[in-house]
Amino acid sequence: MAEKWTNHKNEINLVNPANKRNIDVIVVGTGLAGGSAAATLAELGYNVKTFCYQDSPRRAHSIAAQGGINASKNYQGDGDSDYRLFHDTIKGGDYRAREANTYRLAEVSGNIIDQCVAQGVPFAREYGGYLDNRSFGGVLVSRTFYAKGQTGQQLLLGAYSAMNRQINRGKIQSFNRHEMLELVVVDGKARGIIARNLATGELERHAAHAVVIASGGYGNIFFLSTNAMGSNVTASWKIHKKGAYFANPCYTQIHPTCIPVSGDFQSKLTLMSESLRNDGRIWVPKKLEDAEAIRNGTKKPKDLSEEERDYYLERRYPSFGNLVPRDVASRAAKERCDAGFGVNRTGQAVFLDFASAIERYGKEQASIHGNYNPTKEEITKYGREVIKAKYGNLFQMYEKIVDQNPYETPMMIYPAVHYTMGGVWVDYNLESTIPGCYVIGEANFSDHGANRLGASALMQGLADGYFVLPYTIGDYLSKDIRTGTIPTDSKEFEEAERSVRETLEKLVNNKGKHSVDYYHKKLGHIMWEKCGMARNAKDLKEAMDEIRALREDFWKNVKVPGDMDGMNAELEKATRVADYLELGELFAKDALHRNESCGGHFRIEYQTEEGEALRDDENFMYVAAWEYTGDPRESVLHKEDLNYEYIEVQTRSYK
Ligand SMILES: Cc1cc2nc3c(=O)[nH]c(=O)nc-3n(C[C@H](O)[C@H](O)[C@H](O)COP(=O)(O)OP(=O)(O)OC[C@H]3O[C@@H](n4cnc5c(N)ncnc54)[C@H](O)[C@@H]3O)c2cc1C
Repeated sequence: MAEKWTNHKNEINLVNPANKRNIDVIVVGTGLAGGSAAATLAELGYNVKTFCYQDSPRRAHSIAAQGGINASKNYQGDGDSDYRLFHDTIKGGDYRAREANTYRLAEVSGNIIDQCVAQGVPFAREYGGYLDNRSFGGVLVSRTFYAKGQTGQQLLLGAYSAMNRQINRGKIQSFNRHEMLELVVVDGKARGIIARNLATGELERHAAHAVVIASGGYGNIFFLSTNAMGSNVTASWKIHKKGAYFANPCYTQIHPTCIPVSGDFQSKLTLMSESLRNDGRIWVPKKLEDAEAIRNGTKKPKDLSEEERDYYLERRYPSFGNLVPRDVASRAAKERCDAGFGVNRTGQAVFLDFASAIERYGKEQASIHGNYNPTKEEITKYGREVIKAKYGNLFQMYEKIVDQNPYETPMMIYPAVHYTMGGVWVDYNLESTIPGCYVIGEANFSDHGANRLGASALMQGLADGYFVLPYTIGDYLSKDIRTGTIPTDSKEFEEAERSVRETLEKLVNNKGKHSVDYYHKKLGHIMWEKCGMARNAKDLKEAMDEIRALREDFWKNVKVPGDMDGMNAELEKATRVADYLELGELFAKDALHRNESCGGHFRIEYQTEEGEALRDDENFMYVAAWEYTGDPRESVLHKEDLNYEYIEVQTRSYK
């Protein structure tokens, strides 16, 4: 296993530098995965065209990543290694990820940090100058590199600088405010895309020898999620409908520490980074009457003594405590709230409390400052300074949104949809089932199995973009050195453009009665209630029928104001929601067929007496890769068996 990636690289074909100049590659998406891939491919000498729907690659959703990026550098000397990172990731994913990919991910993780430091990414440093680390859930070491609460932003600035160097050299042509709406397949190979210029409304044909999809995840299918408002499934779904299998669509990550839903008119949820669980302690009142008193405002959290609080994660999972993986922490919060212990007006919130950390750090700082008999006020002052240095921007964000000061009163948090582990199926080379169509970053079904550990998405996106795809795509492109420029006047391009135009025309001419958001909210409601944190067969069957009916209603009654010949934000949303309405049905079908609980997929019929996920390794240790046949309900299942040779499959326990 440890040799596999090196051997593979040694054996695959290369393209000589002179020939790379004759080869074009399209990269759809310029977040961390696409941005890093585009910069690296251009640096190698390929002609790259990038596409994103924002006005700049700098605005990709990756910019929102707060907490950090994992790497097995073992800077802390706490026993980390490639094997441990690999092991933690496979275990974290509940033994539903591919062994070889995950090992490779761990193996290249250290290179990512070196690459980003060389680009000038300002990772946090310790006093002595070494890069600092913190811990994330599901692991017993500190391996998460971070730049305050803005890790994604700083990494993206690094990738964007690398892209800009190539834009300047003319090796990258950057098409911002462009949305890919169709893949063009010629003689069975991906040879281009149809993109809509979102500023002018024009449909454009772009050809290349290979197409890389780096379009991010589809968490917004739930309407409310922590994802950027524009995040969508369209690029992945379009290639799925052209022949790329879609794997494990039901594997969704619900993040335990988000600001709770506040009302019906909300369009977005806000994450409070998992890094906060390094120092925050999660609790609810032990007694129902105290929970009720807090809900109706007659008691404040501070009125409850230590004995009256239930630090339920520390109680249930003594060895990992507040740092259990996200799926475990989310379910535990739901369990407490469902039992009536929720602490906000809606009963759907738990506390994340920094008082103990403030006191602990305050005492330490007092001692460092030579103050051996500090007052309570001095301890609090010192402690808050440490917390501010670590999480200041997150605390500020919380206060702005909730109007409560988290230095003084515990934060209120609740799980929310955050990440999708499912996505387009790819092989070890990151190629989909359409030759020449590669998928990287959150858009592929990835290396995380049924649950992603925190700080692993940035690692995977950048591993794919900087260190995996640039090698593997060469193997494919080596056969194309004599092909020459791909023409865009072929019947395949014509047909693809015609079908996009027809769909857009249908939407703007529909003149129905309901807005796009009306449908998106309804879909989100079905998804959250019936395909969310706890699923069961009856609900999932109902969800499939309800989503289908909603989709039919959408095409009859959706109203898209404006026309298609210029900028039209409603039209953009409509095409994305139309795709979600198809994916939703496949999502529910996938969740229904998987008669087990694993990671983020929790079927209430399959749980232990203690309420933990009950896997069925005998029958479900496989990747479910779905083939489109014209109707999401009729999709055909292909099973990729998962074989664990290097790791012992165990019951996942964090107790
Ligand atoms: C609030 C938040 C915090 C997070 N924090 C962390 C963290 O601390 N650590 C961690 O590891 N992970 C974190 N994650 C997850 C991580 O940020 C994402 O998984 C990752 O950034 C995805 O990168 P990507 O490049 O695959 O996709 P994205 O960054 O989503 O980029 C997608 C790109 O595709 C483009 N695009 C999409 N569709 C089309 C189309 N049809 N046509 C043209 N362009 C298109 C977009 O314009 C964009 O450029 C966080 C996620 C959220 C929501």
